[in-house]
This record gives sequence, structure tokens and C-alpha cells, in this order.
Amino acid sequence: MSSSLTRPTRRPERLLILGSTLTVLLIVGIVTALLIREHANTLQTAKRTANTITQLIDADVLRNVELYDTALKGLIAATERPDLQGVSPSIRHLVLFDRSAAAPYKGDILLLDASGEVIADSSLLTPKTGNFADRDYFQVHRDHPDIGLYISRPFTARCECDDPWRIAFSRRVSSPDGGFHGVAVASMRLSYFHHLFSSLNIGSNSTINLLNHQGILLAQEPLLEVDIINKDLSQRPNVARMLRERDGSFHSVSSVDHQPRLYSFSNVGDLPLIVAVALASDDVFAPWRRAAWLVSVATGVLCTGLLWLTWALCMELRRRHRAEQVLSELAGTDALTGLANRRTLDERLRLEWDRAQRSTEPLTVLMIDVDHFKAFNDRHGHQGGDDALRTVAQVIDSNIRRPADLAARYGGEEFAVVLPNTDAKGAWVIAEHIRSGVQHLPRPAGDEEPITVSIGMSTWEKRSGLSLEDLLLRADQALYEAKHSGRNRTINAEA
Ligand code: GH3
Ligand code: MG
Ligand code: MG
Repeated sequence: MSSSLTRPTRRPERLLILGSTLTVLLIVGIVTALLIREHANTLQTAKRTANTITQLIDADVLRNVELYDTALKGLIAATERPDLQGVSPSIRHLVLFDRSAAAPYKGDILLLDASGEVIADSSLLTPKTGNFADRDYFQVHRDHPDIGLYISRPFTARCECDDPWRIAFSRRVSSPDGGFHGVAVASMRLSYFHHLFSSLNIGSNSTINLLNHQGILLAQEPLLEVDIINKDLSQRPNVARMLRERDGSFHSVSSVDHQPRLYSFSNVGDLPLIVAVALASDDVFAPWRRAAWLVSVATGVLCTGLLWLTWALCMELRRRHRAEQVLSELAGTDALTGLANRRTLDERLRLEWDRAQRSTEPLTVLMIDVDHFKAFNDRHGHQGGDDALRTVAQVIDSNIRRPADLAARYGGEEFAVVLPNTDAKGAWVIAEHIRSGVQHLPRPAGDEEPITVSIGMSTWEKRSGLSLEDLLLRADQALYEAKHSGRNRTINAEA
């Protein structure tokens, strides 16, 4: 009986667990998808930011290089004027360097002759003495007539100053027949890049870099290594890739500090320069990580709460189910003897009857009545009678063993036993065991005779053609017969 009751009540529990598990999975899935999308958005925004920064730097550097180039071109054009030889040194100085004032972070602009000697100096009317034939820009122009505007490697100026690092923009001065006449050179302080880069706030672990096409680092902000300026980085994998591709972006680990970075780089106009922004993943994803952490904790709390609620509900359902079971058992039980009551007997009898009709297996009913119980009551009082009824019930119950068998209190001092799938022969044995078991109970104090029962027995078999009412009536009649033929016996209605 209990298993048939258990099954339907367990179903809501399973549905509840399944429902909340699916809900938790759905919440976790949605949150994960949102976080992944947000991560992709963050990356996209970082790429756009890095691109904007490279474009800004690109434009600024191009504008400045143009200013330097204009000054150099003006200087070379002025040297070619034949009328310049006849004018005073101050007028000559003015003409030579008239376009050189606008460039910021300007160093000296010099005109060198074919041997590298200074022949004109933007900062002094009488040029300082010096020879720059050892500089790369001088040698490049001397050896390559068609090089155009040349941007030198970084070098330290021959001065006692705080920021000695310079790069030079230079153009070749050629004679009309193409011969080498010298070099016009303008130097620029590298602190220009420092000021330009540091004005763009890109995060503490991220860097902005300027490289030439040989992989020489011209500027870096902030500096990752000491003495890195003017270093050849072309062998470093990330730099090698930038030199190869010139424009683009990629994700990689820095070979210097082994931090993951997002590299975004572009060539500066047509110049042999590459500006590269390396955004540290820590800087890029720090806000996303904070948000992800908060959302994950909130989701965790929510899901744990939901699971806890489910668990509490399951416990409550189980508690109610157990209470219902106890109530239902109580409703179907006789309070005095603990056997099934009349209601349960009627239900089970109907059930077993239908089952027997389907299976055509025999069904036997025993009707048991305590003999001379009125007199027993009179001798031992109502309480003594109740005790005796409980003892008789125990004997009956202990003699039926199959799960489908049922012992019930029919009413007063009468009991009924339903024995499904049991023929008259088998039932007779059980009835006799009950009868003899009662007879051999310890005799009540003061009584000479033992308590006894009379049993009427009736069996349905397919060939008998009885109805349920007939079956019960015949069992009753057999009991009546047992009473009248002397009590303490079993009578089979078939016999
Ligand atoms: P018989 O052998 O013919 O069955 O005689 P009997 O005295 O047992 O039969 P009768 O039907 O005349 O009396 C039954 C008695 O059982 C009446 C009542 O006092 C007693 N009885 C019925 N129910 C209870 C009960 O719950 N407790 C007690 N103590 N006695 C009960
Ligand atoms: Mg009776
Ligand atoms: Mg009786």
C-alpha cells in the first residue's frame, strides 16, 4: 500500500528539483553568455581606442615632420640662390632659416658641407665649429643620392643638457649636376614624443612606442627597460610582426615582462616610422573583471538561494507526505486492535475481487467470531474484553504472511481475513492455525476454559460462479454453522 502512495507524491518533488535545476542552468547560461559578449565588446572598444591613439599620434608626428621638412627644403632652396653670396651674414642667416621657427622641440638646424663641416647654424650667426661626417644621416646622403627626407637613428647631442636624445631629419644638398654638396639637417629632441605620448592616458601597464623600419626604438612611454631607446628590437617576435605587417592589431605576450597585451600599430604616413600602442590586458579588462566578479557572486548567491529554497520545499513536501501517509493509515486502521478497519476491508475486498475475476485465481474469505464473548466481558470487565480482543487480533495477524493478505476487524468481536490467490485447502490450514493459536493462548485468570474462536470460510473459484455478496454470505453462514455445531471450529462453506 505504501509504494502505491509514494509514487505520485514523489513526482512533484522531482518536478521541483528538475525545474529549479533547469532554472539555475538557464541563469548560469544567460549570465555566461552576457559576460562573454561583454568581454568581446570590451576588446572591441580597446581596439578602437588603440586605433584612435595611433591615428592621433600619426597625425601629430606627420605634421611635425612636415614642418621640419619645410624648413630643410627652404634651407636648401636658399643655398641655391646665387644672389645670397653678396648679402650681409645676418640677412643671409635670415633667408636660410626663415622657415624654421615653427617646429616645436626643435634642436639646431645645420647646413653641412660635403666633408661634414658646419657651414650654417640656425641658432648662431657665426656657425659653431664641428664635423658631423660620422653621423648616419651624413653617410646615408653621401652614399645614396635619391634617399629624399631621411630620419636618423636616435643619437645624443654634443651638449651638456638634460635631454640629450635627438633624432635628425635631413636632406641631401646636391649640385646642379647631382654631385654631393653636403647635408641640411634638423635635429629634434626625443622629449617631444615623451610629451606627446604622456598626454594620452592609456593605463599604467600599457605603452606607446615609435619604431623605425629597421626595428630601432625611437620612443617609448612609459619606458619598460632602461637604455631601451636606440635599441634594435627587430628580433623580438612582436616587433618583427609589426615591421612585416606595418598596419593592424594582434594579441600577444610581451617578450619583456611576459604580460599579455593587445598590440595596435600603424605606419606613420609614408614615413619609415611605425607607431605601436600596446594595451595591457590588465588595463583593458580590469573593469570587465570587476563587473564579472560582482555578477558571478550575485548569480552564485541567487542560484544557491534558489537551490536552498528547492531543498526546503522538498523537505516540506516530504514531511507533508509522511504526515498524510500516517493520517491515511490511521483512517484505515482500527484503533483498538491495529488491524485494518471496516472501510479498508471493503476497499481491499472489492479490489481483490476484481483482481481475482481478471486472473481467475481463487479468493478466500474467513469470518472469525470470538465465542461467548459477552460472558467473557461480564467476567473480566470491558477493559479485560478489550485486552482479549487485542490478543486475538495479534494471533490472526501473525498467521497471515503474504503481502496481499489482509486481516481486519469487522465489528465488535468479529474479524475478517481476505486471502487472495488462496484455495480452500490452503485457507483451511491458515484458519486452523488461527483457531488453534487462539485456543492455546494463556488462559485468563480465573477462567477454566480458554478463549476460542469460530471460523466460517468461503472460497471463490472460477467454476463456482459466486458473486461477492454470495461469497460473504456463505462465509457468514459457515460461521453460523460453526457456532451451532459447537463453536471452536472451522467450517468451510463448500463442505
Ligand atoms: P457467540 O459465541 O454466539 O458469538 O456469543 P457472544 O456472546 O460472543 O455473542 P454476542 O453477539 O451475543 O455478544 C458479543 C459481545 O461482544 C457483545 C459485546 O459486549 C462484546 N463486544 C463487542 N465489541 C466489543 C468491544 O469492542 N470491546 C469489548 N470489551 N466487548 C465487545
Ligand atoms: Mg458476534
Ligand atoms: Mg461472539
